[in-house]
Amino acid sequence: MQPNTIKSRHLQIVHYPNPLLKKIAQPITEITSDIVELAERMTFMMEESNGIGLAAPQVGISLRLVVISITGKQEDARILINPVLSDLQGVSESEEGCLSLPGVYGNVKRAASCSVTAQDIDGNSFMLDAVDLAATVAQHEVDHLDGKLFIDRLSTLQHIKCRRSIKQLEKEY
Ligand code: ZN
Repeated sequence: MQPNTIKSRHLQIVHYPNPLLKKIAQPITEITSDIVELAERMTFMMEESNGIGLAAPQVGISLRLVVISITGKQEDARILINPVLSDLQGVSESEEGCLSLPGVYGNVKRAASCSVTAQDIDGNSFMLDAVDLAATVAQHEVDHLDGKLFIDRLSTLQHIKCRRSIKQLEKEY
């Protein structure tokens, strides 16, 4: 991604099965004003779309940047640059949805808690411990950076349950 290519770009949420969602996103090596603007716009788009997390590949930008807000509000949003998960513990299963898969909901098993190491918008490294919903969202969003969607993690039974709505998205694409 070249500098100055984000600012001029119209961002919109890309839907499955857009191949951009399958790509492994690139690390951010320098937090330019472009990156700051991208993070701000993504935070706004997340709240506008009633999401609690959004990853840059979901707006068509293949970079390792996610925003998370478990209240869905912009003021509670955390910006995570180059996030890395560690210390995944326990198992919890909860129903997930995704702004890139409108109308698709399924139960996904993930670690019940995890740590996330990332950089903030000023480039400072920090670590946060996430449990329950925050842990689910962190794992869901970091998956996006590795080209994975929650439907890739569904059990066969859950996948069958979602098949019709997934097929619908494939038809609309
Ligand atoms: Zn998602």
